[in-house]
Amino acid sequence: MIYTTGYVAKKSGSLLEPWDFQRRDIHPQDIQLDILYCGVCHSDLHQVRDEWGNGIFPMVPGHEIIGRVTKTGSLVTKFKAGDLVGVGCLVDSCRECDNCQHGLEQYCTNGHSQTYNSYEQDKKTPTYGGYSNLIVVHEDFVLHVSDKLPIEGIAPLLCAGITTYSPLRHWKVGKGHKVAILGLGGLGHMAVKFASSFGAEVTMLSTSPSKEADAKRLGAHKFVLTSNEESVNAVKGYFDFIVDTVSAPHDYNLYLSLLRSDGVHICLGAPPAPTEIMGFNLIMGRRSLVGSLIGGLPETQEMLDYCAEHNIVSDVEVIDMKYIDKAYDRMLKGDVHYRFVIDMATL
Ligand code: NAP
Ligand code: ZN
Ligand code: ZN
Repeated sequence: MIYTTGYVAKKSGSLLEPWDFQRRDIHPQDIQLDILYCGVCHSDLHQVRDEWGNGIFPMVPGHEIIGRVTKTGSLVTKFKAGDLVGVGCLVDSCRECDNCQHGLEQYCTNGHSQTYNSYEQDKKTPTYGGYSNLIVVHEDFVLHVSDKLPIEGIAPLLCAGITTYSPLRHWKVGKGHKVAILGLGGLGHMAVKFASSFGAEVTMLSTSPSKEADAKRLGAHKFVLTSNEESVNAVKGYFDFIVDTVSAPHDYNLYLSLLRSDGVHICLGAPPAPTEIMGFNLIMGRRSLVGSLIGGLPETQEMLDYCAEHNIVSDVEVIDMKYIDKAYDRMLKGDVHYRFVIDMATL
């Protein structure tokens, strides 16, 4: 076993605290990496506080991992010691189902292994995430990362990046489309960057007036304050797509009314409570309400390569490990600019 240290939530809702635990020894196709930075996703907060009701405790969160390879198993072919690499939300899947065969491991029908709050494919060994000094992962679930971009800004691409890139590509968002991004946080700011990079007209829909200048700097062409009824009415029936990154309960019916005919409301945010949808809001104008989960391994590599080519990284606030609970509290208030990233040297 490999001795590891990290930050843990011992039980549902508890504050994070230092914890020593063990990782598996490296198998022939595993690599071991020293974690340099780990991004802080709102999903970490939802799961640590068990808001989705599926928490496995003790829980070491973190699925936006950047590190350097320190060891490789005897059969590893894709990586060598010293490589800068990424690990995202997945560390394994069945590899046999139709979705896995098509690089859609996020939709593995036999149950994938998430990086934390999940089980290995033996369905009994818990996985522990990136708020830790090192991790052991099968090489098929490790991503190549460019050494040319600022490392701390790459970490959030492993979740916030792929979660927004994947649906924009799936629905072929680009030139000629009017796209609204709802919520300017970790996912939202990456959605603005990608949608504008793909050539769409981008409008930021936000509850925070203070974020207008940043939204425009990130690539948004317009900004609508969602508390301003007049501004919201002015974009009724306007958008081809809404990319919804809001983490808290909100009124989907209002946003559906902003779509034109055949418009698509893409749910990425995962509020912990069900919501009511008025059928007429879909029927009128043949609108769709859809969802999308992170992205598969091939598309995550494609996204990282796209970011390296187009100089795209996340805008981050680097924090010490012990600041994590304060970071969660700020996230809850929407006070995030635009991703907290933990410097693992502070562990
Ligand atoms: P985040 O950084 O906290 O950003 C969420 C943003 O939503 C806030 O900054 C705020 O933006 C807006 N917001 C928050 N509360 C709101 C409210 N009550 N009403 C309206 N807007 C509100 O969170 P994140 O890390 O981007 O994650 C967002 C959501 O996506 C979470 O639920 C997370 O679990 C989920 N997620 C899903 C996937 C997936 O695969 N689908 C992957 C990762 C994360 P403004 O200040 O601009 O209003
Ligand atoms: Zn995430
Ligand atoms: Zn599968």
